[in-house]
Amino acid sequence: MFAPMTFIVTIGMIVSVFAAVMILIRAFGQSDSNDRPKVTSGPNDCAKCGQRNKKRAKFCAHCGEKLR
Ligand SMILES: [Zn+2]
Repeated sequence: MFAPMTFIVTIGMIVSVFAAVMILIRAFGQSDSNDRPKVTSGPNDCAKCGQRNKKRAKFCAHCGEKLR
């Protein structure tokens, strides 16, 4: 026979340990990701808002940020 309370407590412990590990990974990984430049998916994607713009667009269609 399986006690449901024991099962719930065990799941809760696993989840909290997992959450703690995730927080630690994020805390340690943050300094690394800050140095890395943000990878854009396209040549004319807006660096400010992420809007995908036309190839020859000089300004973002969404926020008006100048495109490189
Ligand atoms: Zn924009």
